[in-house]
Amino acid sequence: MTEHADILVVGGGPAGLHAAFYAGWRGLRVLLLEARLELGGQAQALYPDKAVYDVPGLPRQNASALVAALVAQLSGLPVEVHSSTVARHLRRTDQGWLIEAEDGRQFSASAVILAAGLGALRPREARVPGLEAHPDVRTELPEPASLAGRQVLVVGGVPQATRAAVELAQARAQVTLTHRRTGFRGAPAELEVLESLRQGGRLQVLAPASLDALTPQGAALTMNGSAVQVPAETVLLMGGYLPDLSPVLDWPLGWDGEYVPDGPGGQSALSGVFVAGDVARSGGDFKLISVAFAQAAVAANHAVHHVRPDLKVRPGHSSEKRL
Ligand SMILES: Cc1cc2nc3c(=O)[nH]c(=O)nc-3n(C[C@H](O)[C@H](O)[C@H](O)COP(=O)(O)OP(=O)(O)OC[C@H]3O[C@@H](n4cnc5c(N)ncnc54)[C@H](O)[C@@H]3O)c2cc1C
Repeated sequence: MTEHADILVVGGGPAGLHAAFYAGWRGLRVLLLEARLELGGQAQALYPDKAVYDVPGLPRQNASALVAALVAQLSGLPVEVHSSTVARHLRRTDQGWLIEAEDGRQFSASAVILAAGLGALRPREARVPGLEAHPDVRTELPEPASLAGRQVLVVGGVPQATRAAVELAQARAQVTLTHRRTGFRGAPAELEVLESLRQGGRLQVLAPASLDALTPQGAALTMNGSAVQVPAETVLLMGGYLPDLSPVLDWPLGWDGEYVPDGPGGQSALSGVFVAGDVARSGGDFKLISVAFAQAAVAANHAVHHVRPDLKVRPGHSSEKRL
């Protein structure tokens, strides 16, 4: 089964989200493919807890709040998101383009916007002895309620680990959070909740501690020079994310290192394939959200015109719409 849309957007970072918004806003049907479970690209994966100061009109905005606003802007538009979907192969068809994902699912459209940023953000691989021995090791937080009542060990100091520990404890899982350093990253409000859950005995924090091995029943740690056994039915290893461009590097786009050369309108070497954001050569080395937004607006509107030549390239002013 192939899912069809007018435009396929690859990547759910700032560029992909804004491109999807613009194409959807112009009335075209969009499928957005994102490698991670969550949208937001680097902002959500690498620095969700940090404030961003250089997005126009937003003097100080928390990165994950910015992502939430970009996602909210898609509400009501014909944009469908396929998360945990890594775009891999690109083939030309009579109608345009077909993308096959790593898991074999196929998506087709008349135009593609590649907004892959630095690459698919994949969980950093954990090298822990006994990894295969444990029956339930994960790298992404599932729906917290699905782990209610279970013993869960969360390993890591990144904001995702803090959030996982907080949300799981609030969902009544029995949570132990551990990290090799003392401090945990997270938005200040989230760190406060973490501390109050810890003080209230709703979760246990073991840090700094080293994770020596996983066992079928849990994990073996060393803390303050002593061995500690932590029972865990589920282990969440959250060591951050690393970008991987390899899934799209064989697309014949005339790659210039990590960049796709693009002409006016974000047009790549392939007719109907556009680029935007960090992956687009035209941004120079300005890997910035503001640049990604501008490129996305330009590429999306050119893609719209490519798919529907009866629609003008320029979108007109949104302020003229009386909604
Ligand atoms: C620590 C840090 C701090 C930063 N601070 C700022 C700042 O203060 N201000 C600022 O303007 N910029 C900042 N940046 C840069 C900013 O985050 C990037 O410029 C911006 O994220 C680029 O957006 P993008 O959508 O092009 O790419 P990305 O954010 O990288 O999003 C690309 C998305 O595409 C997905 N993807 C890639 N390949 C595939 C595939 N084959 N299939 C499916 N999905 C795929 C990835 O998983 C990712 O989610 C910062 C970057 C970092 C790392």
